[in-house]
Order: sequence, then structure tokens, then C-alpha cells
Amino acid sequence: VPTRTPVSLASRLILEGVHHSYGATNAADGIDLTIEPGEIVCLLGPSGCGKTTLLRLIAGIERPSAGRILLDRQVVAGPEAFVPPEKRQIGLVFQDYALFPHLSNLDNVAFGLKALTRAEALAEAGRALERMRLGRYAADYPHALSGGEQQRVALARALVTRPGILLMDEPFSGLDSRLRGSVRAETLDVVRDAGATCVIVTHDPEEAMRMGDRIALMRAGRLVQLGTPEMLYRSPCDLSAARFFCEINEVSGKVAGGRIHTPLGSFPAPALREGERAVAAIRPQGIEMRAPGSGIAGRVMEHRFLGELDMYEVAVQGIDRPLVVRRRATAGLAAGQNVGVHIDIAEVLVFAATGP
Ligand code: ATP
Repeated sequence: VPTRTPVSLASRLILEGVHHSYGATNAADGIDLTIEPGEIVCLLGPSGCGKTTLLRLIAGIERPSAGRILLDRQVVAGPEAFVPPEKRQIGLVFQDYALFPHLSNLDNVAFGLKALTRAEALAEAGRALERMRLGRYAADYPHALSGGEQQRVALARALVTRPGILLMDEPFSGLDSRLRGSVRAETLDVVRDAGATCVIVTHDPEEAMRMGDRIALMRAGRLVQLGTPEMLYRSPCDLSAARFFCEINEVSGKVAGGRIHTPLGSFPAPALREGERAVAAIRPQGIEMRAPGSGIAGRVMEHRFLGELDMYEVAVQGIDRPLVVRRRATAGLAAGQNVGVHIDIAEVLVFAATGP
């Protein structure tokens, strides 16, 4: 039976006004972030927004040009102090696992346990592999394992030193999509069992929603929104944040009487100024198609079978581009047919038209 004891004393991680630049690029531009002990936070954002830089700053691979990083009460980076990576009690897992090819899986895991005698290190590493259900591969070499198994060895190696904080950079991107789901679920189990505070870098919103207690959404070196997956999905802070989580239909209009008026009808816009140009962002699953004659007149231009939810494109007068609609496949509904379009107001978000 694998042992299942908490292995870490989780740390609280605090970033205060952290800056880092490469030449003229502000890769971290004043980041404030507190991550609670045992919490899993995903750093999410498009390529180049500074996710990896932030992870490297937390690890101590880079030193911030301004601001402070604290692990519990200790300043590990700041004007007054800098603690090198090996003294930060941090576990690291990278995309390519970075296992040593010439060491057995057991020796890979034992590698970080330099403070122990060799016998103690091997015993501890053996237990870590057992926890990962990889005990039978201890004497093998990494190349003989599948991608998912190598990822688990890397995770065992990162956790065996009982780090207070575990940092993972795109840990699942090397896995094929079939394997990714199960390795994610296992990783989540192991990290929760270990009780470690965990920061995961990803560019995949679905992954961030599955893995994160909270998501830190980044753009151009800044943290633009921080919250639970549900908060970010339901109340994105602006149009780009909304676009990041789902393919949306954007319909422009003008604000009058506290509502945005668009060719698809008017929707509440309480936070916007009178006369302002605005955008109604309508999620594809918030549009329903009923019999023609009801709702807004539309015509199905395209239908794609996608399994659970099918995709339809529906042309509506007054809108340049067809609406993207995602619904359960409706028998007999095909390109060329007229439909009545109905919009679920709960799936409409309204934003000022200005901004990125
Ligand atoms: P990706 O998802 O593509 O890995 P990221 O969000 O992790 O991107 P970073 O790798 O942190 O982004 O890069 C942030 C910015 O800093 C980018 O503009 C990048 O080009 C720049 N940058 C990163 N590392 C260096 C470096 N060593 N030298 C110069 N510029 C760098």
C-alpha cells in the first residue's frame, strides 16, 4: 500500500511590487500576489506575457530589479537580501521533465537528497516512487518510461525534498491530449497529498480551470485579474480577459438608458457611460435556435458535428459576421435553414469598446 502522509510544510508566498526587465521588455511589471499555504495558483496568459519569468523569480533563478519576494516571513529576494534557489526549499518541474538520462529513475529521485546518507536517500526516493505507483520501475532508466511516467518521476523528484512550494512550468504540454487528462488528475492528487503550495504556469485556460484554486491572469508583465476559475469565467475584468476564456460573439452598440443597444437587442450595461460605444460579448452556448418566426430571424450557414456540443454559424441581419452558436446537436437542423435566434441574457457580458 503506498504511503500517504503529508510530506511538506507549505509556505505562504508573497510578491510585493516585483519588477524584472530584459533590456526594454518589462517581463514583470509591478506584480503583487499572495499565495496561501497549500493553495494551487495557475499563472495563465498568452505567450510572452511573463509567466515563466515570474516562476524564475520565485525560484531564485532571476533576481527582481525592484520589489520583494517572501516565503513565509523570510525575504528571499529584495534590495536587502537574496537567497539562492538551492536554499529556498522549492521543488521545480519543467515541461521537458529534465531527468538525467544516465541515472536510474531511483537515482534521479534521490539526486536532491544530498543531506542524507546514500542508503537513507535511496530509501526515501524508493518511497516517493511507490507513492507515484512507479516502484517497479526504480531500477530502469527514464527513456524506457512513457511521457506520463517520466512526468511522475519528475514530480517525485521535486516533492522528495519536501519543498514548501512547488513550481511547475507547462508541466503537461509534452504529453499527448489523451494522457494529459489523467496525468493532470494524478498530479493534483499528489500535490494535494503533499500539501505543498503550488504555482503552475500554463497558457491553457481549461488546464488553469482544472488545476487552480485560483488563477492569476497575466498580460504584458502585469497581473490583470486574480480569482477563482468561476470568478474569471463569469466576471472577466475586460474584453480580452473574456476572449481568453472562450470564443465569443462580439456585437457593438451604444449605451442609452443604462443599456447597450445592438442589432440583436438591448442588454443591461449599468457600469457604462451614456452615449459610450460598447461591446456585447455573447458566449456561443448562450444562443438558442428555435422555430423561425420567433426571436430574431437567422439562417444557419454552417453546422459542424463536434460530439457533445455542435457548432453552428448563423447569419443575422445587421451583424457582419455569422454568430457562432454551440448547442446539443438538433436533429435535422442544417445549413440553409431559417431559425429564430434567442439569446440567454445570463451569457452576455458588456464591456466598454475601448481597450485592447
Ligand atoms: P511563453 O508562454 O511563450 O513561455 P511566458 O509568458 O512564459 O511566455 P516569458 O518567457 O516570461 O513569457 O517572457 C516574457 C518576456 O520577456 C517576453 O517578451 C520574452 O521575449 C522576454 N524574455 C524572456 N526571457 C528573456 C531573456 N533571457 N532575454 C531577453 N528577453 C527575455
